[in-house]
Amino acid sequence: MKPDCIVIGAGLIGMLTARQLADAGLRVTVLEKTQPARESSWAGGGILSPLYPWRYSDAVSRLARLSQIRYPDYCLELREDTGIDPQCLQSGLLVTDVDDAEQAEQWAQRFGVNLAWLSAAEAKEVEPQLGIEPARSAWLPEAGQVRNPRLVKALRARIEQLGVEVRNDCPVLGWNIQHGRVASVQTPQGDLSADTYIVATGAWSGDLLAPTGLALPIEPVRGQMILFKGPPGLLSPITLHQGRYAIPRQDGHILFGSTLEYSGFDKQTTDAARQELTGAAYALLPGLNGLPVVKHWAGLRPGSPDGTPVIGPHPALANLYVNAGHFRNGVILGLASAELLVDVLLERPLGVEINPYLPENNIKKD
Ligand SMILES: Cc1cc2nc3c(=O)[nH]c(=O)nc-3n(C[C@H](O)[C@H](O)[C@H](O)COP(=O)(O)OP(=O)(O)OC[C@H]3O[C@@H](n4cnc5c(N)ncnc54)[C@H](O)[C@@H]3O)c2cc1C
Repeated sequence: MKPDCIVIGAGLIGMLTARQLADAGLRVTVLEKTQPARESSWAGGGILSPLYPWRYSDAVSRLARLSQIRYPDYCLELREDTGIDPQCLQSGLLVTDVDDAEQAEQWAQRFGVNLAWLSAAEAKEVEPQLGIEPARSAWLPEAGQVRNPRLVKALRARIEQLGVEVRNDCPVLGWNIQHGRVASVQTPQGDLSADTYIVATGAWSGDLLAPTGLALPIEPVRGQMILFKGPPGLLSPITLHQGRYAIPRQDGHILFGSTLEYSGFDKQTTDAARQELTGAAYALLPGLNGLPVVKHWAGLRPGSPDGTPVIGPHPALANLYVNAGHFRNGVILGLASAELLVDVLLERPLGVEINPYLPENNIKKD
């Protein structure tokens, strides 16, 4: 039977969107180029806060704050429904050497965020492994993390429980457009049709939408990450220093990242990045020196100019929608972003002002 909605892309954003649609009682099919959640949503760090969150637009902060409040219950529910625990943990975020404290203060007040300033001695109480003496650190105790590979696994299981069909190895290759609407999408499994279509193809969204006449400034931005294995409990909070961060998982794994590289769709890791990341890790947290680096990987973030995702209807095609371009913050923005997109699609009241996210307000500039 023809689905009500086709979601294109089974990353975190596509699957969160599919879940919202299924919860609303719609029949949903997700079309995935390869296998679900093998791209950015797997490769990311799962920090439930933007890095230096006060430096982002209000449009980003609004979605981040909404999601941050909802994540703990959302993950608990997923665990109960699927038996897969995304390990949502309120580990706190320590940001060292903040030189724009006034901006941070204003942001914290505006969004009701708990923020404290710590001296070097106080920062060391929060993270005894610190190898630096930061003059002034921001402490964000409400920030946390999820294990994003588990989150996407749980989400996939949940949407399938809800009757969503996920088709693997089914890339959308082109569009059949008639009378200002998408009539069907072209795939190796034939032309597939639905009433409504949603593009959630991460870094590939700009290229996929270009033939529909919509030029969005979404491009791949490579991020490399290394993984240490240490004893559980070695580190406590997430620590961010000069753009590099350590994320301690419950089982002793520590992610350290990440690079920001504009190198097209190249997902290769490099020795230079590995050296740079290990050096930064040892300087920040000397206790990591001597621990094995058990993995090194790269992912392609869906980069957008200031990190504001594009959410809403295609300006010219009545039944086509976009949820893409979450850049460095797709995990933390994803929950609220999926809800907003589905509210727009179903013409429900909106909890958030939609204008900053609309495709027509985010057209690529030459
Ligand atoms: C190193 C790194 C660290 C990060 N850390 C964090 C963090 O700590 N916190 C945070 O919030 N965010 C973080 N992010 C960002 C976050 O991972 C992304 O913003 C988010 O995962 C984007 O999700 P997505 O579903 O849009 O994209 P993706 O996960 O890339 O999914 C897109 C999917 O679409 C599929 N697809 C592409 N083209 C087609 C097509 N034509 N037809 C069908 N399917 C198609 C792809 O195969 C893929 O499965 C990080 C990212 C990286 C790389």
